[in-house]
Amino acid sequence: MNAQFPISTSPVYVPIQRIYREKRLPSKFQLAKNATSAVFRVAKAVIRGESVTVDNATMEARLTTCEQCEYYRPKDGRCAHVKCGCYLKSLLLKKTKLATEKCPAGKW
Ligand code: SF4
Repeated sequence: MNAQFPISTSPVYVPIQRIYREKRLPSKFQLAKNATSAVFRVAKAVIRGESVTVDNATMEARLTTCEQCEYYRPKDGRCAHVKCGCYLKSLLLKKTKLATEKCPAGKW
């Protein structure tokens, strides 16, 4: 038995701990509620003739902020804030690209 490292600080255990302590997403009900609100905001912008997306520089700046945020989940690129749960850098649809969205923690 190797007593050199206590299990909680061993070089192998620490990365495993980080994976399992990934921040939890909001409940499925809350996610559905948040997504529905986002769809309504986009629909409202389209009806008003407003822009739905932001330029790439704005999107990159938002993403940089997210990647340094305590709610950011590097595993899947999602926000774990209770009022969010969105994908921030998926290929198809990302919150950081939508002009109608804002950070629930007020960071952008
Ligand atoms: S959207 Fe806001 S709260 Fe969520 S990860 Fe980005 S900066 Fe953090």
